[in-house]
Amino acid sequence: MKIPFLSFDHINAPIKVELSNAFNDFINSGWYILGDRLKTFESEYAQYNGTKYCAGVGNGLDAIIIALKACNIGPGDEVIVPSNTYIATWLAITNVGATPIPVEPRVETYNINPDLIEEKITSATKGILPVHLYGQSCEMDKIMAIANKHNLFVIEDNAQSQGATFNGKMTGSFGHINATSFYPGKNLGAYGDAGAITSDSEELIEMCKVIRNYGSRIKYFNEIKGFNSRLDELQACLLSIKLKHLNEMNSLRIEVAQKFNESLKNVGDLILPVEAVGSKAVYHLYVVRTKMRDKLQKHLSEKGIGTLIHYPKPPHLQEAYSELNYKIGDFPIAEEIAETCLSLPIYPGLNDEQINYISNQIKEFYNA
Ligand SMILES: *Cc1c(COP(=O)(O)O)cnc(C)c1O
Repeated sequence: MKIPFLSFDHINAPIKVELSNAFNDFINSGWYILGDRLKTFESEYAQYNGTKYCAGVGNGLDAIIIALKACNIGPGDEVIVPSNTYIATWLAITNVGATPIPVEPRVETYNINPDLIEEKITSATKGILPVHLYGQSCEMDKIMAIANKHNLFVIEDNAQSQGATFNGKMTGSFGHINATSFYPGKNLGAYGDAGAITSDSEELIEMCKVIRNYGSRIKYFNEIKGFNSRLDELQACLLSIKLKHLNEMNSLRIEVAQKFNESLKNVGDLILPVEAVGSKAVYHLYVVRTKMRDKLQKHLSEKGIGTLIHYPKPPHLQEAYSELNYKIGDFPIAEEIAETCLSLPIYPGLNDEQINYISNQIKEFYNA
């Protein structure tokens, strides 16, 4: 049996006609950038996410960069960030000229350990950038309490967790300003690059809208040096269609995760995902850990099963960050996760036969 790591078939099939109708209307509209389709999606996504405002931007990396800029975070400032995130989170901080201050995750949840944040706060600290990794919320109650005590901005990276909650509240609605990505493979994926910023602050979102559009509020008058990073009308109208199905698609992911949790319990040295108290995950990824990761990945590949590693090298050991002079051993939890993690296929439409096949091939690996 061949099982790809990711398939969009089940997500696209029921909305194909709706998508092509929207595409035709979009072509005929003659308005392709910053129009009514974007405004509509922005208000729909803000409402879905439980925030007052939303600004659509070109991609998830730009969303974090623009959010940081709106908070006036730049050279000389420090931003606290997990040691085990996707590189984009760090890139956003260094792109605005600030310094990433890594904090280790809890090894059980893979999310930033709030108990380790306060010791990293200095007079230069301006913000905390928690990442809801793999589809699970960080412990936002503790993080917000620390931020309020020290008067810091919280900028959530919600790229992997659209629809996840902590104590019943949506990720992307806790921080002062929050960023997300609609990269095709995310839980809410566009048909190309797209991203968004959410906030309850009208002032911050207005500033993001100025930054995304050349630093201009009034055409040809530029108050700051901005970017060109707008969410296309085309992606906006397709995202509006997909947003209506997001909760249902997230439920299907959760069902797959529960089936893996059952069938992979007590198999070999496998460590399965753990949800923190109060957190309801949406399983962007289903990540297991094993000391035999590379061998297991090879075995599954030989059996036709696609897997990926999120991520094989933590940011502090990347060549791009050699200037920070970190070395192996500086963030041992992030390094251990990088050496042992393996993402199994998980997406809406992954059926029982496929889930059983994957589980059985994993059991066979450990029995051999
Ligand atoms: C995907 C992702 C991003 C970046 O999003 P893009 O749209 O690809 O730029 C940032 N942070 C995390 C955690 C992500 O998974």
